[in-house]
Amino acid sequence: MDSEVWNETLNQLSTQLSYQEYNTWINRLNLKGIKNGSIILSVPSKLVKDIIEERYLGRILDILNNLSDKKLKVKIIVDRSEDISNEENGTMGNSIAIKTKRIDPRHKLFDPKYTFDKFVVGDSNDLAAAAAKKVAENPGKFYNPLFLYGGVGLGKTHLLHAIGHTVIDKFPEMKILYITGESFMNDYITSIQKGTMNSFRIKYRKADLLLIDDIHNIQGKEGTMEELFHTFNTLYAAKKQMVFTSDRPPKELKRLEERLRSRFEWGLTADIQPPNFEMRELILRQKIKEENYVIPDEVIRFIAENLTSNIRDLEGALKQLYAYHDIMNQEITLDLAKKALKDKITARSVENITIDLIQKKVANSYNVSFSDMKSKKRAKNIALPRQIAMFIARKLTEYSTTEIGNEFGGKDHSTVIHAISKIQKKYESDDAFRARIDRIIQSIRENS
Ligand code: ADP
Ligand code: MG
Repeated sequence: MDSEVWNETLNQLSTQLSYQEYNTWINRLNLKGIKNGSIILSVPSKLVKDIIEERYLGRILDILNNLSDKKLKVKIIVDRSEDISNEENGTMGNSIAIKTKRIDPRHKLFDPKYTFDKFVVGDSNDLAAAAAKKVAENPGKFYNPLFLYGGVGLGKTHLLHAIGHTVIDKFPEMKILYITGESFMNDYITSIQKGTMNSFRIKYRKADLLLIDDIHNIQGKEGTMEELFHTFNTLYAAKKQMVFTSDRPPKELKRLEERLRSRFEWGLTADIQPPNFEMRELILRQKIKEENYVIPDEVIRFIAENLTSNIRDLEGALKQLYAYHDIMNQEITLDLAKKALKDKITARSVENITIDLIQKKVANSYNVSFSDMKSKKRAKNIALPRQIAMFIARKLTEYSTTEIGNEFGGKDHSTVIHAISKIQKKYESDDAFRARIDRIIQSIRENS
């Protein structure tokens, strides 16, 4: 068992208790650890401990044992170092009490990294990001529901958690319920089995903010859809904000009841598309900065060029690279990156791209012939595209500079190296040029 059970317990308590009660008492509980079926919680004083044990322990145990198959115990200990408003601060001689802001424990329900600050916005997700922000700052006032959809690893969960964090801070009195479509379904099934449908209904229909992640997973589940339909109506009528995420738009949720599907479209539907090259680069730079690493530009570009489908893959690539760097104790270079990411980079990027294909695509873009690419001709209008093709070949394939030279009318490897570094400089300094090259690279990928 892990802290998830405890987080879910807090989640449920926050919907069952008034804000006042939650904030005064439950908020004081700190999870210390979980050992041998006992959840160890600490509180800042004996008084708090006594009151929590008297008033809330029963309820806490009920929730816990509903959530877990094992019989769980709860142990509350007093840890005075935690009381930030205790005498120590008061006797510092300051007339103004030093008040440290207490962090709302409900933030633990959400990934601390999934905030709006850390969400890179670009063409592929700007509507979704802006809508999520607007909803978080004015829950229930604008788009209801907000329906976010997109493929895996593109930031749906990130945005949902960011909404949660923001609402906790801006509207601490709101009851927030975050759940996945699957857990909603399981909760529903358990409630039927245990005959606790009433409290199930109360729980969901009392939320001020309902966040359901991966709602597509309830497709075809009759009872669950029915229950969500009623929950939706209640919350909608009460102007309570709902946000759903899904891997596809409402109209493609084929096994969803029509009445539910149409409701999903009542508010705003926003999609998240895979990031383009610039954005992948931007995201990588931000993640590298967050981790305090330094990675050469060409490595960043290598990753951005080769891992194109989603952001989770970009993160995975960085992790793998850091691990290589740490374990092998080697500087992060393009060569190290190629080695480290060999398995992540799809075969087609490394293996299926031929120099011929690159030459054809570049020739096409620069209006020269394929045979010119292979020739020794020195005319300037041919030399540049040839150098570009060498540069791309080095980037996208595993061929050595000597092998590349052979494909371009038998140039020796120093000529190839010179050409590559010349183009690299231009690529780095000239935005229009870079955009053009990236378009060629994209089209090579699509044809490989
Ligand atoms: P989804 O729920 O759509 O499958 P996630 O929200 O889990 O995707 O995102 C996958 C990973 O990518 C997460 O670690 C998330 O922080 C990161 N991520 C996604 N989009 C962005 C973005 N625009 N900026 C920064 N990180 C992002
Ligand atoms: Mg997700």
